Amino acid sequence: MEGGKLIVFSAPSGSGKTTIVRHLLLQEHLNLEFSVSATSRERRGAEKDGKDYYFMSIDEFKKNIKNGAFLEWEEVYRDIFYGTLKTEVHRIWAMGKNVIFDIDVVGGLRIKKKYPDVTLAVFVKPPSVEELKIRLKKRKTESDEKINMRIAKASIEMATAPQFDYIIENNDLLTALKESEELVARFISEPSKEKE
Ligand code: 5GP
Repeated sequence: MEGGKLIVFSAPSGSGKTTIVRHLLLQEHLNLEFSVSATSRERRGAEKDGKDYYFMSIDEFKKNIKNGAFLEWEEVYRDIFYGTLKTEVHRIWAMGKNVIFDIDVVGGLRIKKKYPDVTLAVFVKPPSVEELKIRLKKRKTESDEKINMRIAKASIEMATAPQFDYIIENNDLLTALKESEELVARFISEPSKEKE
């Protein structure tokens, strides 16, 4: 391990974790840099390649899997792959920064397992699956079919919450932001377990 800590935020999509992660990235004292994931899904709205994701074809993604380029990867939805490139984490460590991940629950727990001493794994819990559906519909970025696919997955994901270090209940956004900020600040200021 070459330096910083790893902060994982995982949750069903629509739970508000991306809003929380964006807020944390604005807090300079936390010294965080966003881990840009690779994905084979199509670009949404104003998303930028290299900023929101490294967008790649399924073939390109599979080639990277074969070459061992990923720290973790997941077929999050059928034929839609997401993964963290090893080079991405090295890039951020080389900057002397802490890495923050916005990834699915399986990927998040995998990172925690690989680096247990330096990882804080946080699960963001939406008020309910029903509320999640309302939020996803409001976002208006996806078809009903894709929304239903995400909702079906959300119920399974909710069951993994107890495996995380910490659960943030996102009933009220401002409270969730404050709680997240305090939690990450505390974790970052603690010495890593491996250095104790
Ligand atoms: P979205 O399509 O809404 O951007 O993301 C769909 C899901 O994939 C989310 O739960 C998101 O956190 C997850 N995801 C994004 N990047 C990664 C990654 O690098 N690895 C894994 N395992 N999941 C990811």
